[in-house]
Amino acid sequence: MTEPLIATVVPDIAGHVRGKAIPLAGFDAVWENGTGWTPANVQITCFDVAAKSPWGPTGDVRMIPAREAMVEVALPAGATERFVLCDVVEGDGAPWECCLRTILKTALAALKAETGLELRASFEHEFTFRDGDGPEPGSAYSLRGLRGRRVFGETLCGVLRDAGLPPDSFLREFGPRQFEITLPPQPALRAADEAVALRQLTYAVAEDFAAPVTFSPLVTETGVGNGVHIHFSFWDENGHPKTLDGKRPHGLSEVAGRFIAGILDHLPALTAITAPSALSHMRLTPHRWSAAFNNLGVQDREAAVRICPTFGADAGKRARQYNIEFRATDAAATPHLSLAAMIFAGLDGIRQARPAPEPTVGDLTLLSAEALAAKSLARLPASLDEALLALEADTALLAAFPGRFGAIYLDHKRGELGALEGKDIDERLAAYRAAY
Ligand code: GLU
Ligand code: MG
Repeated sequence: MTEPLIATVVPDIAGHVRGKAIPLAGFDAVWENGTGWTPANVQITCFDVAAKSPWGPTGDVRMIPAREAMVEVALPAGATERFVLCDVVEGDGAPWECCLRTILKTALAALKAETGLELRASFEHEFTFRDGDGPEPGSAYSLRGLRGRRVFGETLCGVLRDAGLPPDSFLREFGPRQFEITLPPQPALRAADEAVALRQLTYAVAEDFAAPVTFSPLVTETGVGNGVHIHFSFWDENGHPKTLDGKRPHGLSEVAGRFIAGILDHLPALTAITAPSALSHMRLTPHRWSAAFNNLGVQDREAAVRICPTFGADAGKRARQYNIEFRATDAAATPHLSLAAMIFAGLDGIRQARPAPEPTVGDLTLLSAEALAAKSLARLPASLDEALLALEADTALLAAFPGRFGAIYLDHKRGELGALEGKDIDERLAAYRAAY
């Protein structure tokens, strides 16, 4: 006989989900009262090495399952994947300072209070199959390349749909054995929950196919990166789109322009959260179609923030399609934390009434240091160490996070870097391939 279990899990700083499984039979009490959790677990890095924590072996918090974030779906090999994302609270029910879902909810509430607007987001995830090696000539974006993983792709899409996350597309990406799976836009909290679920379901299907995948930001030192691209748009409470204003340059509404200016102002620090592995900043280098400067671009896939195209003759439809893409992120980041940090930065731009950035044109590596400086453009941090220093110095951004979260986050990431000391690039690539 088997006993059906449900895993209560929290999305954590390492970009993983951790928790424990509880018999489904007794779960009614858990919906009500939650289940215990250890605060120091938030300092378990992606390599399972524990970073410095304020709690050590002491303390208790509680995971409270979020009914709207439950996933229950049959997997190809016959097992049922059953988990629920949780909020984490103190013993008295107050939000815990390191609950990432709560941090995102707080950011969204601040955006709503200060602008009246809601954020919708959609996530594109790139990942690479770990089996096989060498180049696959002629496979990039090809039907042949897609055909080689068709059964996997159709199964993954079916699992996502059955789990309540109907996919938008599955494609053979540019790099060897690289694919992409995208989900359509949702209210931001739902989008982050879905992004977490998508990664887990992709791992689960890959295990059943015995075809391991990795979302690691970089699989080889010089090759194409695995990016995560976050598309976002603003909506009022009546469901009207507020990102496009046809009378303004490039169609950017005033609020969208200010929000993007805030993101670009804080981008060096922001990348410590959105691109938070020791490999991430190697991906954020020129000519990788990722992001290398703190720039806005119009339909430019090398811009950190990109104004996306719309299609058709109907102005109303175009206003609903119009959205902005944030490209300086990857799957080492937790979706909830990436969105929250973007919103905190964007809100700062709104509060300061920053003007919309002027989009850049062309290859920024061809500009001199003076020409870049004249446009307030700079290369993104060259390493996670540099990004963490930028975050530490960005007191305005850090102050938006609750309690000790900023300091805890910095310790977490420095613990992760400590675990890599003495490892060469091939060992680092292998460590992250295995971790993500
Ligand atoms: N692989 C690229 C990245 O690292 C993105 C390619 C694309 O989809 O434009 O972000
Ligand atoms: Mg892509």
